[in-house]
Amino acid sequence: MKFLLDGLQVYFPYPYVYSEQLKYMRELKRALDVAFAPGVSTTAKGHCMLEMPTGTGKTVALLSLITSYQLAHPTVGKLMYCTRTVPEMTKCVGELKRVIEYRVKELGPEGGNVLACCLSSRRNMCIHERVMAEADREQVDAACRKRTAPWVREKVAERAKAGVRVDEVEEACTYFEAFERVGTDAAIPMGIYGLDDLKKLGKEKGWCPYFLTRHCINLADVIVYNYQYLLDPKIATMVSRELESDSIVVFDEAHNIDNVCIEALSITLDKRMLDTSLANIDNLKRQVSNLKESDRRRLTDEYERLVRGLAGTGALGGVGGVGVGVG
Ligand code: SF4
Repeated sequence: MKFLLDGLQVYFPYPYVYSEQLKYMRELKRALDVAFAPGVSTTAKGHCMLEMPTGTGKTVALLSLITSYQLAHPTVGKLMYCTRTVPEMTKCVGELKRVIEYRVKELGPEGGNVLACCLSSRRNMCIHERVMAEADREQVDAACRKRTAPWVREKVAERAKAGVRVDEVEEACTYFEAFERVGTDAAIPMGIYGLDDLKKLGKEKGWCPYFLTRHCINLADVIVYNYQYLLDPKIATMVSRELESDSIVVFDEAHNIDNVCIEALSITLDKRMLDTSLANIDNLKRQVSNLKESDRRRLTDEYERLVRGLAGTGALGGVGGVGVGVG
């Protein structure tokens, strides 16, 4: 159904809307109106905190309202929908697909002019068979970094000159190399892409879905991603740096924000890590003192060579007899 809500045409994909959903959408619209009113600093106003019981259709209400708002106000920035888990992300994408399908029914193909994609960790997006087989997130990240490191890429380039194909370079990732070859020209058709859709597309095109999505989020109208991509400074500076300041940011289940922030800024150390770190520090200390010793020896040799050279020319003739017995 479609209906007018305080002057805004809302596209809602179900035949009924609960009064709680209407109330929720009205509050949300009020916050957006304040944030996007002419002359208002978006950093100063427009925040809102809304609560609704589980199972009352909060996600669809929110997505219907915000996408309708974007449609009515094309200057409004992208929607960044932050979730905590993959099932929540999948649920959000499912509802968004329903909203946009309904819009296409009402407005024709133009109603579907939306690009939405999900971004999750490499563990959930990788399509490289050997890397995907790694046991956990850290290991998948590490295995991917090894295959995309600059020295591996240099090796790929070197071997390519000798006519060796990327898939013949054991340490490389063909999906990453193929994506890098396309670079900023990599584009995907308008549509709503969940994690499985992106993996399927990655396989079809031969591009890494993870890096493809990191590139496409700058072009997307809706991004659904983990809290960490916005809250964890280590990741946010790489992923979300270029996103516009007039974006609409939604934290689903926002009571988790403090835990996510604590996790992002904490590190866990076990005895094995401490032992390895101590061994590394000892190793470093040894290397530094070896270097110092070899520098000292080199300097002394230099000095002695210099003195001998000067003595040989007679320049040191009268100085303490240094040059007398040399040469
Ligand atoms: S570049 Fe992409 S496909 Fe290749 S290993 Fe990394 S995450 Fe997997």
